Amino acid sequence: MRYRDFFVKTLRESPKGEESRNAQLLIRAGMVDKTMAGVYNYLPLGLAVIRKIEAIVREEMLKAGAAELLMPALHPKRIWEENGRWEILGDIMYQFKDNSGSDVGLGTTHEEVIVDMARKRVKSWRDLPLALFQIQTKFRNEQRPKSGVLRGREFIMKDLYSFHATLDDLNDYYDKMKAVYLRIYERLQVPVKIVEASGGTFTTEFSHEFQVLTEIGEDTIFYCPKCDFAQNNEIAKVEEGQACPNDCGGKIMKANGIEVGNIFRFFDKYGTEMKLTYTDKDSRVMPVLLCSYGIGITRLFGTLAELNHDEQGLKLPTVVAPFQVVVVSLPDKLEAAAAIYEELKAKGVAVIIDDRPDISLGEKIIDADLIGWPYKIIVGNNHSTTDSLEVVTRATGETAIMTLTKFVSGL
Ligand code: ATP
Ligand code: MG
Repeated sequence: MRYRDFFVKTLRESPKGEESRNAQLLIRAGMVDKTMAGVYNYLPLGLAVIRKIEAIVREEMLKAGAAELLMPALHPKRIWEENGRWEILGDIMYQFKDNSGSDVGLGTTHEEVIVDMARKRVKSWRDLPLALFQIQTKFRNEQRPKSGVLRGREFIMKDLYSFHATLDDLNDYYDKMKAVYLRIYERLQVPVKIVEASGGTFTTEFSHEFQVLTEIGEDTIFYCPKCDFAQNNEIAKVEEGQACPNDCGGKIMKANGIEVGNIFRFFDKYGTEMKLTYTDKDSRVMPVLLCSYGIGITRLFGTLAELNHDEQGLKLPTVVAPFQVVVVSLPDKLEAAAAIYEELKAKGVAVIIDDRPDISLGEKIIDADLIGWPYKIIVGNNHSTTDSLEVVTRATGETAIMTLTKFVSGL
């Protein structure tokens, strides 16, 4: 890929009117553009990162036996009225009338819509269990969104819904999904802690959040460094410095966290309130049991930016970087650079070339570091052939001279 074709447009200055570090970094790197508070364009570079995050999430969902579907963003009030959530979520849900005068809303989440769909199709114990997920845009009228892409008014979420006949089956799948979530964050190199939190607008049960403990997080977490005790302060009855309630001998600590995922057990709530039922083996009509599981895809993108940067710019992990390698050159070495680029491409390397004419090598390097490509190949006067590449690793800043073959074999 070539810079000009991929619309790589960096900014040297921090954008005006953007307070958050993640959005500043992403806007300067040409990954994101702000349209208004909490609403962003994801430019080709940023979308490439998002697609990589989604691919890992999707792969793990499919591996866990879930099937992908796509639900609408536009919802009728009728469905949301059945359990009273139209009103409960009135402040955060965009609600308006369409041309026919009907009330509609933009989806903040999809339990109601998926239950409405499933109740027309799930009839018997033979239809269960069932797990369906989507990766889709949600809308929430967030108050004062000032955390960049961490808190959008329009954002991408992966949401999975699992349907069960028995409590044992529900709990088994819920625990399995906890492990799947940990695997996803591990693959993305995002360290998380599982934290107990409130059950949401709806249940008295705890939910489980996946929190990244970091200063800029909006949530407050109390946790024990010695065992797995961790609670969100919305439910926590402990204080900092107190002995751990698990009697493990640890002392409770307090930290800020970014919630990158949240999983809920709704049990028979939806089955009962929205009449999603099935007939069991003894011909009894029973409510279907439901869980839901969210991952903030664009919030993860922002979290990755918050966790991986330095003075020069982004340092996203290779697993999510849009391309692995950039080729930059002196203005009069563009042809030599193009030859190296073609050779790398032919070998299947995810490579991009900064092919802008009349831009100095120094400026190209500054831009490359701002975007944070994992490897830079610098084509100058001394190293300009496939026999002798100058390779700089973004993560460590180390420079090495090697042949193209050696470089490719080490990727
Ligand atoms: P928060 O407490 O941060 O407002 P939430 O608990 O309301 O989030 P959920 O309904 O649990 O969010 O949504 C599932 C996931 O979607 C969250 O764990 C989070 O990662 C992500 N998410 C929620 N709201 C936003 C938002 N406004 N912008 C980006 N991602 C979000
Ligand atoms: Mg949540």
